[in-house]
Amino acid sequence: MLQSVAKPESKLLSMVLKTDIPEVSEKNFTKAADFGATHSYVDSVQGSALDALKKAFSQFPVTVRLASSHKGSIVECLLNAELPGCSLPNEQDWVYVSGPWTEVGTGSTGGGVSGAPQSVVFYWVSLQNVQSYLKLNPLFPPVTNTDRLNFATLLQAVGIGIGNAAAHEMGHHVAYKFYIKMDCSPNQNSANACQPDSNNDVTDFEIEGGIKEEYMYVYPQIHWQPDSVCAIQQYFGGDDWRDANCTRSFKKPTHW
Ligand SMILES: [Zn+2]
Repeated sequence: MLQSVAKPESKLLSMVLKTDIPEVSEKNFTKAADFGATHSYVDSVQGSALDALKKAFSQFPVTVRLASSHKGSIVECLLNAELPGCSLPNEQDWVYVSGPWTEVGTGSTGGGVSGAPQSVVFYWVSLQNVQSYLKLNPLFPPVTNTDRLNFATLLQAVGIGIGNAAAHEMGHHVAYKFYIKMDCSPNQNSANACQPDSNNDVTDFEIEGGIKEEYMYVYPQIHWQPDSVCAIQQYFGGDDWRDANCTRSFKKPTHW
């Protein structure tokens, strides 16, 4: 499933929805019950992920939506190193939500230097982090009303984590062309410390790795660093589109 945006975009795709293992891990995840056929569960995760990603970019001139695709022409497919008749995204920036197990963190972004950036966010990592950070391990299948409430809370949190991780990967898209401090650390003694906002808060989208708050909150509780706001405005709105707080260009020089 996923999301995407018109001028950035993101796509949440091919998510395998399984749950019911108290502490999901690389060793046991294939044994989890697949509830992908229960549409209300899928809709809950997808809706919560899309909502979080929309909020993350609500202050910028961009539309966030589910990704769409078209059948590419022979030339388009060859340019993308795909077979003729390939399916290509309609959006410029997109994020896949992936089902396979991974050890590479909440998400990853590649490409972007010579072609369009490609991002993936991992469903299992979000589920694993929700279970361990929030201690949410509801019974499955839910039987009582309490079970159902706990299970619904789990799905919401997994979706929030996916949406916030997708926003982080979008930050890496911006980083190809504009100065934005990605993978920063909340530790102010670190060489790559996150820039505090006016409330001295560093609960940022740009933080490297998962943090507990990423599964509990959406924007503005999780937010962009002050300088990132300018960089993202310029990425989506063009170099001239910026608010009164952005007094300089964040564009990186182009090297050929
Ligand atoms: Zn990152």
